[in-house]
This record gives sequence, structure tokens and C-alpha cells, in this order.
Amino acid sequence: MTGFRTLDDLGDVHGKRVLVRVDLNVPMQDGVISDDTRLRATLPTVTELADKGAIVLLLSHFGRPKGEPRLDMSLAPLAAAYGHVLGRPVYFLGEWDKEAVAELAPGDVAILENMRFHPGEEANDPAFARTLAALGDIYVDDAFSAAHRAHASTEGLAHLLPAYAGRAMEAELKALEAALGNPERPVAAVVGGAKVSTKLEVLRHLVGKVDHLIIGGGMANTFLAARGVAVGKSLAEHDLAATAEEILAAAEQAGCTVHLPYDVVVAKEFAANPPSLRTCNVHEVAPDEMILDIGPAAVEALADVLKTCRTLVWNGPLGAFETPPFDAATVALARTAAALTQEGSLVSVAGGGDTVAALNKADVADDFTFVSTAGGAFLEWMEGKELPGVKALEQ
Ligand code: ADP
Ligand code: MG
Repeated sequence: MTGFRTLDDLGDVHGKRVLVRVDLNVPMQDGVISDDTRLRATLPTVTELADKGAIVLLLSHFGRPKGEPRLDMSLAPLAAAYGHVLGRPVYFLGEWDKEAVAELAPGDVAILENMRFHPGEEANDPAFARTLAALGDIYVDDAFSAAHRAHASTEGLAHLLPAYAGRAMEAELKALEAALGNPERPVAAVVGGAKVSTKLEVLRHLVGKVDHLIIGGGMANTFLAARGVAVGKSLAEHDLAATAEEILAAAEQAGCTVHLPYDVVVAKEFAANPPSLRTCNVHEVAPDEMILDIGPAAVEALADVLKTCRTLVWNGPLGAFETPPFDAATVALARTAAALTQEGSLVSVAGGGDTVAALNKADVADDFTFVSTAGGAFLEWMEGKELPGVKALEQ
């Protein structure tokens, strides 16, 4: 990662029109916001700019209207809810035109209509980007979660106006840089979750980057099976045996130690606290059993690995954590990572929808150095891909 400008590099913004790309795509249930995390994430940037007298114009997508206006995906109803979170009035502008913007005063905050109502947004159409650019003097990108898309409001605009990273974007990029860009070694990666197939690129990228690759979750079963271990009825992708072997060989070449569990928690049926629950060595799984979590001895060994590391990046739970007691390994290792972070010996960065849910369940999300809620953008970054929205800021 090279340099990018932040709000610290902005001069006097009083009376300037600042287009801020945010992610207001919050989950809604029956017209009510069920989780306002994304709204709160924008507050540092928006408050700072408004306090400095900028005219703050918020750009966001909402849902998938596919290039045409859809009443049920308008951002209009969000203005009041966002104003409530922000603690000041928020205007809504239904048209992307200069006259409406001209009526705003320094310190005002307005949400513009859903970017994806215009086909030029997702097409990254230069004409639409120019329409947007004409509304503002400065562009601030504060939506890391949309940075893996090269759209007019996430990428095109950065080439037309002076471009800066907002506070949330800045924090995310700094954390990711500390975790995989230029990390303190040794570095450990935990990769878990259901399937190898969804995280092949992540695994391939990480073996060349980290010193310890800890594999858990359903994907550990695929690796165990590839190694000739009988995994019974476990979720496993037997057709990926050759791919798993390739990844293990690449790791060995790169000097990356791969950690697979040597004990596991199994059951004959997938239910909460099933009567058939038991812990066993990986070589003792019966044909009618399935592996639903890694075992306590494995967790203890992994905790010892983390104690020798300076950096940890984590994506994916170690077991079927939604169903007790198959959350035990994830919760225990997360608590170890959190404690090491608090002691100052570990930089810990985690991301992924289910991973964030699991860390919240373990009540340790606040004790990690950084937890990314970016989803797709976080995974693409874990795959080593260049994110167009980030690249545009770096020029
Ligand atoms: P994230 O959203 O953090 O990237 P994933 O979506 O890849 O994580 O994986 C999470 C899912 O993996 C969870 O629903 C969890 O129940 C499942 N999972 C983890 N371990 C197992 C296992 N041993 N067997 C079946 N499912 C598992
Ligand atoms: Mg998931």
C-alpha cells in the first residue's frame, strides 16, 4: 500500500461541498433498521466535516435496484433515521442536480438518492461520474465495504475531484496494512468456515504471506480427508482433495506451518447438545459421525502458537458455532487472542460476517485490534486482490 490522503490533509473546508461515499446499506425489517452499525461507522467523518463548516453530501447505494428508480429502495426514509443517529438534521436530495445542493448552508448534511438508481453507477460511466463531480468540490471515500467495486461513486469520482480517505476508511486500511501488508512477525492466520471452495484464493494467498496457517471449520475436514483421514458424515469437499494437497505443498515450500486439528468434537446428529456428542482423536471418527468443532487439545496447542506470534488475521469460525456446544473452540481461541491483544503482544484483525457474529458471541470483538464488517471487500483483501476503490485513492 502506498500513500493516500486523509482528512488531516484537507485544508479549510468551510463552505466547500464535500461528496462523501458512505455505506448506508443497512439491514431493514418491515421498514425498521435492524442493525445501525454502518450508520454509526460514518459518524467520525461526517461530524468532523460538518463541524468544520463543509456542506456534506452523502452518496450511497441501497439494495439492488439495477439501474432504475424503485420506491422500496429509495434512501429518502433513511434521512430521518440517520439524522437521529447523527444528532442533527439530515436533508434528502431526490435529484442529482446543482440547484438543490446550492440551497444548502455550511455545516448542513444531506443524503443523495440511491446511487444505483442510475445505470451509470455500476457501469462506472464517466458521464455519470461527471454529473456527480459537478455537485461537489472534494471527494471523500469512507466506504471500505464498497471498495471492491469499481463504480462511479466508489472509483470514478476519485479521478475527477481531489480525493481523500475518510476516518473509517483510514482506520480500516491502517489495520489491514498492519495485519498483512507489513506485519510484525511471526504472523498467524486462522481460516475457518464451511467450505474450502469459497476460500481457495484466501488460502492460496495466505500460505505465501503468513508463518502459521490454522485451518478449522468444515474446511479442515476437507484437508483431513485429503490426507487420508476418515471423516465420516462430516461436511467435506472430497472432490477438492488434490487442491488441498496443492495448498499444503505450497505452504511447505513457503515455510508456512499448517495446523490441522488432531482432536475433534463429533456427533451423529446436528443438533444442540446431542446425546451422541463426544470428543475424539481425528483418526477415531466413526462412519456415522460428523465433525462439528475442533477439540480442546487442538485449541490448547493453537493458543500456544498464538502466544509466539505478533500478528493474527482471522476469517471463519472453527466450528458450527451457531449451535452449542460447537462454538467452544471458536470462543476459547478468540478469548486467547483477545487477551494477548490486551496484553500488547498481538495485533489481531478479524473479518467476515459469521466471524464477527462469533466474536460478538464470545464478547471479545472490542478486545481485538480491529474487526472489519466489510464482508466481500475484506475477503478480496484476504485474497491479495487490489481493491479499485482503494487504488483510486492512492493515486
Ligand atoms: P465468514 O462469514 O466469517 O466468512 P463462513 O461463511 O465461511 O464464515 O463460514 C461460517 C459457517 O461455517 C458457519 O455457518 C458455521 O456453522 C459453518 N461451519 C464451521 N465449521 C463447521 C463444521 N465443522 N461443519 C459444518 N459447518 C461448519
Ligand atoms: Mg458467512
